[in-house]
Amino acid sequence: MPKLTVVVPAYNESEGLREFHARLAAVLDRLDLDTEVLYVDDGSRDDTWAVMCALRDADARVSTLRLSRNFGKELALTAGLDHVDADAAVVIDADLQDPPELIPTFVRHWREGYDVVYGTRASRAGETGFKKMTASGFYRVMERLSSTPIPRDTGDFRLISRRALAALGQVRERQRFMKGLFTWVGFRQVAVVYHRDPRHAGETKWNYWKLWNFAIDGITSFSSAPLKLATYIGLAASLVAFGFALWVLGKALLFGDPVRGYPSLMVVVLFLGGLQLMALGVIGEYLGRLYVESKQRPLYLVDEYHPSVG
Ligand code: UDP
Ligand code: MG
Repeated sequence: MPKLTVVVPAYNESEGLREFHARLAAVLDRLDLDTEVLYVDDGSRDDTWAVMCALRDADARVSTLRLSRNFGKELALTAGLDHVDADAAVVIDADLQDPPELIPTFVRHWREGYDVVYGTRASRAGETGFKKMTASGFYRVMERLSSTPIPRDTGDFRLISRRALAALGQVRERQRFMKGLFTWVGFRQVAVVYHRDPRHAGETKWNYWKLWNFAIDGITSFSSAPLKLATYIGLAASLVAFGFALWVLGKALLFGDPVRGYPSLMVVVLFLGGLQLMALGVIGEYLGRLYVESKQRPLYLVDEYHPSVG
């Protein structure tokens, strides 16, 4: 029988993990597949690991993997996927925002021959208007800048076939924008629209500063357009400066040149200084990432791994 592994990254999710597993197990029971649930404890500071171990004792399908510290969701996910040996893997959040009940639909599309089946959110219940606005703005910017079209309103909730998983396994970059990478591998992909529920327990690990950095990570890993920004702004500034120079020259020739123009001088100097610092900052963002990449550190470290007994 084909095997399906469900990878669940969790960080401080002890509150809701049991309920999550109950709902997931009910769905998996109804699938005519050999199933495994791989819980990845991303260095939680509450008793998430203890709950995972209890789940593993109670259910033969459960595997547990614990990282040596908190590495962040993208790496927890990578660690989980690296430990999958199945015909397909499903990635799902532990907070029940992604409904496990959608998995049979994913599986159906997979059986039709799709390699990546991803969930696209039709609604984001329980999220603020500002969050929705910034999220949609981000997807729009990404769409324009990146040559890999990253589907809108799509999280990490998806099913990945064995060959797409193998392809993803070859991507070892340190700065991992997973939803971009999932798309980058290509093959046959299809979207399934669903309604995203609010978190049922615990709280989100994201704040706006983290989201902003996540957005910069996404843009810098999939586009070098910001690097060109300086070129074009510089070009535009030169053109304006040229016109202004002609005007200043003409005026001096026609009407003489009493010393004036301190305010305009300051404006130009400060404006160009600001632009230069900004351009340096953009270069710095890429350089910093290049530096991290060049260190070639392992992506994550495993503390314990207990494969399922079933
Ligand atoms: N998560 C993780 N490591 C982290 C942060 C989050 O493994 O450092 C997990 C978390 O436990 C959850 C999933 O990633 O299962 C999504 O996190 P969250 O719900 O905080 O994100 P949101 O749904 O707000 O995007
Ligand atoms: Mg969530």
